Amino acid sequence: MPVDHTKNIIEVRDLSFAYGQTPVLKNITLTVHQGDYLGIIGPNGSGKTTLLKVMLGLLTPTSGTVKLFGADCLGFKDWSKIGYVPQKAINFDPLFPATVREVVAMGRFGKKGLLFRLTDEDQAVVRQSLEQVEMLEYQDRQIGDLSSGQQQRVFIARALAGQPEVIFLDEPTVGVDVKAQEQFYALLKRLNQELGLTLVMVSHDIDVIAHEVTELACVNQTLVYHGEPEEFVKGDYLQKLYGKNIRQILHDH
Ligand code: ADP
Repeated sequence: MPVDHTKNIIEVRDLSFAYGQTPVLKNITLTVHQGDYLGIIGPNGSGKTTLLKVMLGLLTPTSGTVKLFGADCLGFKDWSKIGYVPQKAINFDPLFPATVREVVAMGRFGKKGLLFRLTDEDQAVVRQSLEQVEMLEYQDRQIGDLSSGQQQRVFIARALAGQPEVIFLDEPTVGVDVKAQEQFYALLKRLNQELGLTLVMVSHDIDVIAHEVTELACVNQTLVYHGEPEEFVKGDYLQKLYGKNIRQILHDH
């Protein structure tokens, strides 16, 4: 599929959100285009996960709109276009009784509904998804027996099996060791550059974000910055946000 970098995948307009009386997001306007690799960063409690949930239609904005593929998020139906990789360490039960192949096959539900038999085509997509994340040789292993980094690659494969156009990731490397993190980010870069997949990733890791993504959105209730990571690194945004110098933060990592 040729990537059209002018095509709007997600359009957030004047978005505000409050949990009850507590405002969390204010007047956020941001567009994600096809082929973007957007990193969303900000201090703890700044509203990153909330923004992701509003984009995914899991929370309804207090005011403003979200459009997915040109349609209002609240009436959006074509969820198979969207993949989601949650924070593994928090959401995954290590005793969950399924093989790697079965977990990835679950990614076909969005296309087929819950009660379906895997056709040859489904099997081929599952296999291809496992190949893309270099986990095919693990397909018969129990998911709970794998390392955190391997499990997270399997969850990417599960998202890929739905053949989405955009994948949302919420702090995907929490609990993953540094070497596996590097492999994981290399995989994401490949999916973005070679398959043209649009990626939206929440992360607290400024160092990684500054080097991996093509677009950066920095949230602290409002959208403090949106643009190229390089400009962000040059500016004094981090000082404003974290009270620390970027070079100090990059050095600390
Ligand atoms: P981040 O992902 O940047 O750490 P969150 O979006 O999780 O931030 O949270 C933003 C703010 O909203 C925080 O102050 C948090 O305590 C609050 N918050 C998050 N979820 C809820 C909820 N379900 N009910 C009330 N307040 C919440």
